[in-house]
Amino acid sequence: MKAEVIAVGTEILLGDIVNTNAQYIAKRLADMGIFLYHQSVVGDNPDRIKKAYDIAFSRADLVIATGGLGPTRDDLTKEMAAEFFGRKLILNEASLDSIKEFLFRRNQPVTEGNKKQAFIPEAAIILKNHHGTAPGCIIEENRKILILLPGPPREMIPMLEQQVLPYLSKYQDGVLVSKVLRLCGIGESYVEEKIKDIIENQSNPTIAPYAKEGEVILRITAKASCKGEAEGLIVPIEEKIRSRVEKYIYGEGDTTLEEAVGKLLIHHQLKIATAESCTGGLLAARLVNHPGISSVFMEGVITYSNHAKMERLGVKEETLKAFGAVSQETAAEMAEGVAKLGKTDIGISITGIAGPGGGTKEKPVGLIYVGVYLKGKTRTKELFFKGDRQKLRNFATTQTLCWLRR
Ligand code: ATP
Ligand code: MG
Repeated sequence: MKAEVIAVGTEILLGDIVNTNAQYIAKRLADMGIFLYHQSVVGDNPDRIKKAYDIAFSRADLVIATGGLGPTRDDLTKEMAAEFFGRKLILNEASLDSIKEFLFRRNQPVTEGNKKQAFIPEAAIILKNHHGTAPGCIIEENRKILILLPGPPREMIPMLEQQVLPYLSKYQDGVLVSKVLRLCGIGESYVEEKIKDIIENQSNPTIAPYAKEGEVILRITAKASCKGEAEGLIVPIEEKIRSRVEKYIYGEGDTTLEEAVGKLLIHHQLKIATAESCTGGLLAARLVNHPGISSVFMEGVITYSNHAKMERLGVKEETLKAFGAVSQETAAEMAEGVAKLGKTDIGISITGIAGPGGGTKEKPVGLIYVGVYLKGKTRTKELFFKGDRQKLRNFATTQTLCWLRR
């Protein structure tokens, strides 16, 4: 089977956003052994979208288009697909109910545009969207398959993983089963080095490490005639990998780092409070991503100025004067101060220079200190990372969560 991916959206064409959807889909099709020969990008223009389908089907059997399923007038992917195949758009009541429910839960009104999203090309297979309003769909005609997926990656990826890839598995010979291990506190190249021989001496399962926002993901994929057989192939390789990098593995599959940390804190009933400077609340925001965290997460403060660090956390003026706000000493006092403030077992602090300005030779942009107070003892850690402001702040947060997990 030959595939093509089309990304629909003028903002991709103009370079305002990066086409990560095509990248993601390409990788997953490759994992399945489906050949992808072309990718294309087309703006939100009806004629050109239809032309893109036409060109794609002249050279592929499977076309996956992302974007343009939204409620607005420039969202035309589905309309053009219906025209392309000469099918009517028919209201799907179940999709409309899901859209209404999704918006109701968010206190948002159902617009005419949202209703438009529930119209699906006749006889198409509907793909449910659990993370947004736009359902996707699969249109099959004369051994040609067109799959329409929403543009936002947080909607597209689960739909692809949970509905599209299982659907496509019938076009593969045998099955592909993947196991994902998630690691933190270790770089991608170091992971690769540690398991290089396993990767190199291995063709089934294959092992693919990739870095993602300060974490490393290891995907072990086995091909076999049935699921059980593929899983059997994965087990010994997973064991071998674990024996080398076990202490860095925080979870499997879709587990997030905040989930792993949250579970651990709840399990040990360790109460926690956070004091953040350069990350501006990102750490607290990630912790509260985990449902149930309220039983242990007591409070988070953002103490950006020296004044706030002194007033709210009791950081000493002498400490700030002698060592500066970005220092091990300040991080330690912030961690102790916030644990006292929140009456918690753990106090976590982050202070650093996120840039782009403000760095010096001694304390360059990217220098970050993390403090952890745990039941009477305080430890600090120096981190250094290169990148823009947002990346640095994400990095600091991920590394702190990773440290907490230990
Ligand atoms: P919406 O309901 O948000 O309008 P949609 O299915 O109509 O969803 P688009 O309007 O095309 O999708 O894109 C919405 C957003 O999704 C974009 O602003 C962008 O953030 C993201 N997005 C769209 N296409 C891609 C892509 N190919 N790669 C990465 N992100 C994308
Ligand atoms: Mg849109």
